[in-house]
Amino acid sequence: MALHAHQRLRHDVVLRMLDVLRVERLSPHMQRVTLGGPGLRGFRGASPDDHVKLFLPNRDGELVLPALGANGPEFPPDREPSPMRDYTPRRHDAARDELTVDFVLHGDGPASNWAAQAAPGQQLGAGGPRGSFVIAGDFDHYVLVGDETALPAIGRWLEEMPAGTRATALIELPDAADRQPLHTHADVDIRWLARHGEAAVDSRRLEQALQELPAIEGDVFHWIAAESGRARAMRQWLEQRGVPKDWIKATGYWKAGADDDND
Ligand SMILES: Cc1cc2nc3c(=O)[nH]c(=O)nc-3n(C[C@H](O)[C@H](O)[C@H](O)COP(=O)(O)OP(=O)(O)OC[C@H]3O[C@@H](n4cnc5c(N)ncnc54)[C@H](O)[C@@H]3O)c2cc1C
Repeated sequence: MALHAHQRLRHDVVLRMLDVLRVERLSPHMQRVTLGGPGLRGFRGASPDDHVKLFLPNRDGELVLPALGANGPEFPPDREPSPMRDYTPRRHDAARDELTVDFVLHGDGPASNWAAQAAPGQQLGAGGPRGSFVIAGDFDHYVLVGDETALPAIGRWLEEMPAGTRATALIELPDAADRQPLHTHADVDIRWLARHGEAAVDSRRLEQALQELPAIEGDVFHWIAAESGRARAMRQWLEQRGVPKDWIKATGYWKAGADDDND
């Protein structure tokens, strides 16, 4: 097999109605919601940075999901569609038919607001994952860089990394109290960077920590997820330093000043 060959997998899109089974406040700004029920059967996801589209209650408190027709998803014309937001399947337990999603409580938005009040017995819609981008497992080192919205993906990745893998994780959080215990068999250096109340969009802690990393030997894969302007700037910085494009995945997980209603 070629060196550092990433794999792109497609999955059939399935829309599901899921039951809230449990809710747990992991830290001041992170709410864990465990979803399940018969709707979850057959769920698949192959990569730690997969995402599902969650469908949240509309302004009438209703879940209005599209039908999957020949022309793609179509919402009923006479009802307000559910707002949709992207979230990481933090853990999927196929034996128990449970899916864990960790929501950042960032202030105001349909997803954050819903998560803050979530309670067992409620429901949520979910679509996907449509595909998985499986990053090659043969790099010498992985540098994972993200803010709190990336913590579910980073946490899952570290948990799934085989022993012997080497990684550095730079994780920015609203507060020191938002740190979480992360379990891994890999050889990982985790650096927690607390903003102490500064707005995520104004912080440059991830950028600075990335720039100050000592040189790492061998082939290094960089994974970045944060506010979109910051993720883009960090990608550009790496590219300017000669890191090959295929050795970087940088994604905007949210956009300052914008809601996510356009997708
Ligand atoms: C692939 C992918 C995976 C993701 N996984 C997760 C995940 O597992 N957990 C998670 O919490 N988020 C995750 N996100 C980010 C999440 O989709 C966005 O934060 C989303 O905008 C939240 O929706 P909302 O309805 O709460 O706020 P919106 O209605 O989208 O936004 C309302 C306002 O809040 C601001 N805003 C949105 N998100 C944040 C934030 N995090 N911090 C500060 N201000 C914000 C917006 O700029 C806007 O002004 C992921 C995003 C992507 C693309």
